[in-house]
Formats: sequence, structure tokens, C-alpha cells
Amino acid sequence: MLVDKYGRTVDYLRISVTQRCNFRCRYCMPTTPFSWMPKENLLTFEELFLFVKVAIDQGVTKIRITGGEPLVRKDLDVFIKMISDYKPDIDLALTTNGFMLRHYAKRLKDAGLKRINMSLDTLDEKKAKFIAQKGILHEVLAGFEAALDAGLKVKLNTVALKGINDNELVSLLEFAKFRGSQIRFIEYMENTHAKDDLKGLKSDEILAIISEKYKITKDEKLPNSPASIYKLEDGYKFGIIDPHKHDFCESCNRIRLSAEGLLIPCLYFEDALSIKDAVSKGDIVVASEILRQVLENKPEKNKWAVGTQNETSSRAFYQTGG
Ligand code: SAM
Ligand code: SF4
Repeated sequence: MLVDKYGRTVDYLRISVTQRCNFRCRYCMPTTPFSWMPKENLLTFEELFLFVKVAIDQGVTKIRITGGEPLVRKDLDVFIKMISDYKPDIDLALTTNGFMLRHYAKRLKDAGLKRINMSLDTLDEKKAKFIAQKGILHEVLAGFEAALDAGLKVKLNTVALKGINDNELVSLLEFAKFRGSQIRFIEYMENTHAKDDLKGLKSDEILAIISEKYKITKDEKLPNSPASIYKLEDGYKFGIIDPHKHDFCESCNRIRLSAEGLLIPCLYFEDALSIKDAVSKGDIVVASEILRQVLENKPEKNKWAVGTQNETSSRAFYQTGG
């Protein structure tokens, strides 16, 4: 079991398999990303898998594959199958923008993927193009349907943005509910890579908008989940991820692995250690020691939570995977 020095059990590994992305979401990426890493710096799937085995053997029970856009990395299903074959009962999930899902959903499901979180900020084609800086909506919706048809559980993630999709929150919620999917509204987190003119809606504003049409009650939060859960009168549950109001540090159960092999104990890069050398040599002992060290480095609170909210973070979501 992996327990850090503050008594938190760490059983959740998020793996970013690439920084690259086929979108340029205004809240996530600069139009010209300035730090694409060269391909040779990426850990191969074999190297990533070596670390995954170490992590599973030490107590990791949940793995999420993310990015950048994870589906732009070739043969992702092969990597998913490696993990699933090693531990078939692992909670194996993927976060994707959905654009390529139409072509891969069935393959991913057959490989052992269980769940998907898909980003969907709007149901309006023009707005989708404005946000992602590319015409995307048709393919994204087709990807959503393909994932449901393949039998994957799909949650939708919506970053709530003032003047952009605030008049659509109810339609997005109804769309998700109609398709039997949970939607989670995410507060926009300010960062230096995002466009300057963006303003996010806070959780109270999101709730106020939905309350104009529906009676909402607060539901029980799932342990270790950053989402606050709310219920409509008919029992449909949706979530809000509200980092401006809550810090999730007390119940944090996760560590992150970046595409180039940095093992990151917290949302920020400080105190991250590289496993690249160890896994390229197939050295399980050293990889395991690095994991223990990173756990030791896991801070009690992230920088945001200790009062730097007013500074815009330089943390890039496309690098750490959100
Ligand atoms: N490309 C995939 C996607 O978009 O789902 C996975 C990576 S993306 C970085 C993971 C999540 O981070 C997405 O749900 C996205 O909406 C969210 N995200 C990115 N930038 C954000 C920001 N500035 N504030 C809040 N959420 C953000
Ligand atoms: Fe790409 Fe996801 Fe970032 Fe959008 S949020 S630019 S889809 S990594």
C-alpha cells in the first residue's frame, strides 16, 4: 500500500501519454504551444507499462490515461490492453476530447477500458469552433455516441465560461441526462497559457443558473472525488468541480506521470522525479524507489490551496493532463 507522510493512501495514477493535442482550447493551450517535447523524449508504452506494473504491485487500483489528447498517440489501445491484461479488475479510465473516439471507442472497450470522461463545453457548432479553435462538434458528438454504443460509461466535462456557454448549462445538463451520462461542470482555472479574455463561472453561479429551471439538492460527495454532487428532483445527479471554493488536498489520493516520465506528486511540477532512466534500463527496483521518494515529496497542500489563487498559474493542463 502507498501511504504518504500525511496518512493519505495513494491508489490513483494519472498518466499523460502525450502533450500534443488536435485542439487548441482557449482555456488550456497557447495557439502555438512553445514546449512540445521531441518524440524521442516520450516514454515508450513498454517503459510506461513497466512503471504501471510497479505502481499496481504497490497498491494503485485506478489508472486514468490523459494528455494533451491521448488518442493522438498511436496504438493507445495496445497500451490499455497491456494494463488490463496485467490486472483485469483495475479501474481503467480515459479523458479525451472525443474527436477521434468514433474510430477508437470499440477498440478501446475491447482492450479493457472501462470508463471515459469526455470534454463537451457546448452544443453549438460555432461556439465549439470558437473554444477549440477548430470545427469539432460533429465529430465529438459522433465520438460520444460511439463510446456509448461500445458499452463504455461516459461522463461529460464542461468548463463553465462567462458569456460563452453560460446560457447553455441547462441544455448541456439535459443532453447528458437524456443520454444517461453524468455531467460535471468545471470551474475555469486561470493559467498563463489561456487566452486573457476568459472568465469562468464559479460554482454558486452555475448552481444559480440551473436552479432557475430545476430544484437542486446537495448529495453526498464520493470519497476522493474532487466533484461536489448535486441531485435534481427526479434523482439525476450532476457534479461541479470547484477548486476556487474547495481544496481537494486532504483527500488527495493521486500522483501523476507525465509523457516524458516525470512522476509528479502534486498538481505542480516541484518535487517531481524522472523515472525515464530507470524504466529505460528495465530497473524495477530503482523505479520503485523513485515512487516511494515521490510519495515522500507529496506536499500537504498544493500551491493554489496555500493562498496563491490570485496569481495566475503557469501550470499547463496539456502538460500534466488536468
Ligand atoms: N484532451 C483531453 C480533454 O480535453 O478531455 C484530456 C486532457 S485535458 C487537459 C483534461 C481536462 O482538463 C479537460 O476536461 C479540460 O476541460 C480540463 N481543462 C483544461 N484546461 C482547463 C482550465 N484552464 N480550467 C479548468 N479545466 C481545464
Ligand atoms: Fe487539448 Fe484537452 Fe487542452 Fe483542449 S483541454 S487543448 S482538448 S488537452
